[in-house]
Amino acid sequence: MQDGVIFKERNIILKWQERWDESQKGRWTKMFFDRFNLTKVIGNFYPNQIYTGHGVFGEYQGRIFQKTATCLCGEEIETVEHLVRKCRLWSRFLVNWQKNWPNLNIVGLMQILSCRRDAVRLIEQQLTFRIEELDTD
Ligand SMILES: [Zn+2]
Repeated sequence: MQDGVIFKERNIILKWQERWDESQKGRWTKMFFDRFNLTKVIGNFYPNQIYTGHGVFGEYQGRIFQKTATCLCGEEIETVEHLVRKCRLWSRFLVNWQKNWPNLNIVGLMQILSCRRDAVRLIEQQLTFRIEELDTD
């Protein structure tokens, strides 16, 4: 009985990985997680916005809700990457990374705990700003 349960669970995980590998969706998320892993399944709102690219970002809001995709800085489309690595308006929240690890990409930076904390703080602030912006409309 126990072996049967373990076999079925392994099969489910293998099928899930197969679907993950074959899917054209979630390409951004695949940069962070290429292998399916039950221990990495977490329900944390802010980091998950970074890992999925779904959330308050202009690019996503524009694609899904036809809102303006350009960042408030006016320089680029407001993607996750732009906000947490390049945007001059939000760089003050990145205490631990831009100056210390300029050559790492966002995947590498998110593997460093202090950088991940900065990015999550930035996303929290971004969301708060967006909500306050809605109140003033
Ligand atoms: Zn910007």
